[in-house]
This record gives sequence, structure tokens and C-alpha cells, in this order.
Amino acid sequence: MKPYAIDRVSVVIPVYNEEASLPELLRRTRAACRLLDCQVEIILVDDGSRDRSAELLQQAASEPDSPVVAVLLNRNYGQHSAILAGFEQARGDLIITLDADLQNPPEEIPRLVHTAAQGYDVVGTVRQQRQDSYLRTLPSRLINRAVQRSTGVAMRDYGCMLRAYRRQVVQSMLACHERSTFIPILANSFARHTTEIEVAHAEREHGDSKYGFLKLINLMFDLLTCMTTTPLRMLSLFGGGLAVFGFLFAALLLVLRVTHGAEWAADGVFSLFAVLFIFTGAQFVGLGLLGEYLGRVYHDVRARPRFHVEQVIRAATLSPSPAPLRQVQ
Ligand code: UDP
Ligand code: MG
Repeated sequence: MKPYAIDRVSVVIPVYNEEASLPELLRRTRAACRLLDCQVEIILVDDGSRDRSAELLQQAASEPDSPVVAVLLNRNYGQHSAILAGFEQARGDLIITLDADLQNPPEEIPRLVHTAAQGYDVVGTVRQQRQDSYLRTLPSRLINRAVQRSTGVAMRDYGCMLRAYRRQVVQSMLACHERSTFIPILANSFARHTTEIEVAHAEREHGDSKYGFLKLINLMFDLLTCMTTTPLRMLSLFGGGLAVFGFLFAALLLVLRVTHGAEWAADGVFSLFAVLFIFTGAQFVGLGLLGEYLGRVYHDVRARPRFHVEQVIRAATLSPSPAPLRQVQ
């Protein structure tokens, strides 16, 4: 791991109906960024807010010498899409994301920057005392465990959006074309060195969480499916298992029918069941096969870059050779 220079930092903040917290957010973020000895841009993405958020952002961005960049989306696309829209505008060597509701204290930004500068591609955060209800913490704990198991990427807290990503990682994330994604996990697939630091977590002061029950479920599916097709694979395994069981049971019923006679088999009822089992078994095999195809189609449709080159080292003596062929994607 090699320390790297950070000359410019971009802070990306998605904003959806947050007019009450915006003034304080801007004040605190700017104050925290002044402590950094590098250039800073604060990119606020308005995710189609219906309150005055967009207006406030425009105002903040049009002040002379303002570090604020306002990106306005025409409608609500969701938190992660809004962050990606912010990434597109980022020019920093390190890009930091954070929530607009002040649950992630902006005062932690300098610590993130210093940790990343030691050579980390991704710096995650763990909420020390999470100030959310049990109903919110339990699902995210379950999800964390499931993701850890299926992806092998060990991070303790995926829900906390206060994170730092190195420029190359963000570039690779922007090259992913899938519609639904979960940024902290996607980032890990392009990072070599990752770490986590503990940060404070405050209660939401203004307004309510923008995630209703359905949106939360949707987010969890995004999170699970963005990395793995394990659930689909489980479907094929389960279907295959059930099919084998069905076939065996059907065979057993038929054998018993022959050895014990029609009377034992309730005058044809059991034979009917045997036939039924064979058909349902065949259905499950079909379902499993469909799952396998679907999984592969899903992988291809996402059109993610197949790899992420961290560095190319070439002997200088060979340099007058023709330019390398870029991988055609
Ligand atoms: N957000 C967004 N678009 C949405 C929902 C949320 O840009 O459709 C932003 C929101 O303004 C906030 C962040 O995403 O800055 C996290 O949202 P919230 O605090 O509601 O989520 P929670 O903390 O409850 O998980
Ligand atoms: Mg929040």
C-alpha cells in the first residue's frame, strides 16, 4: 500500500426534500473542508425535491467563489442514482459521499481524507452508536451478514454513506451501466485496499427518513442483487432438489403400486400422485434452468467493466513501441 497525494477533494451529497437541514449542512461542511489543506468542491445533487432545496442549492452555487456545485435532476431517481450523477461532476482525487440530513457529521471529513491518503482506495465508516430505531437496524444487520457471506467483502457497516472513494474507483463505478445499484458494495469490487473507521451518528433533526417501507425493501434487493446472483442460484438448487425428490417419490409409489396391488394404491389415486410428482419435478427443473439463464443474462445486461486495471508497469526501454491496443468493451 502506497500513500498518495490528494490535491483536490470532492464531496458529493444527494439532496431530496432537505430544505430544513441545508443551511446547517452547507455551513458545517464548508467549515470542515476549510480544515483541509487542498482544494475542495462540494457537489450537491438535488434529486427532484418538491420543496425549496433546489432553489437553495442554486443560490449557494451562484455566490462568488463558492465551492458549491449544484446538480439538479429533473425528477426523483433515488439516492444512489443521485450520487452517481454527482460522481460525474467530481474532479477530485478523492471523492467523499455523505447524507444531507446531518446524520453523518461533516466534521469527520478531514479524518476520512487523512486515512485515505495512507493509500486506501475505499474508506468506509462504522456508526458508533447508531441513532435509528430497532426496526431499521435489524434488517441492515441481517443484510450486512448476507452480503458479507455472498461477496466475501468484509465490511461491518454498509448502510453508512459517509465514505471516501479514490478517483479510479469512482471512474470504474461510472462505467457500470446497471440501473439499480448500491454504491458502497459496487465500490468494493473495484478497490484493492479498503478500511473502516468509526464515526459518530446523529439522530435525524429535520423531517423524516426518505425511505418508506417499500423503498427500503427495494433498496435491500438492490443491495443483494448488485453483487450476486446467489438468490437465483438458490432457486435452481432448491428447484433441482425438489425435482429429484419428486421423481424418487413417484418411482417409489409406482413400485409399491406394482408390488402391493391396486388396492394399496387407493385404486389409482396414488398412481395419479406419482404422475403429478413427475410433472411438478419437471417444472422445477425448468424453473431452475430458467434461473441459470436469467442469472447470466442479468450479468451481461449490467455490462459492468470486466476488470479494473489498477496500474500498468512497463519497462521504459520498450516505450517507443506502438501504443497498446485498448480493450474493446
Ligand atoms: N435521498 C435522495 N433521494 C431519495 C431518497 C433519499 O437523494 O430518493 C437522500 C436524502 O436527501 C439524504 C440521503 O439520501 O441525503 C439519505 O436519505 P435518508 O436520510 O432519508 O435515509 P436514511 O438515513 O433514513 O437511510
Ligand atoms: Mg438519514
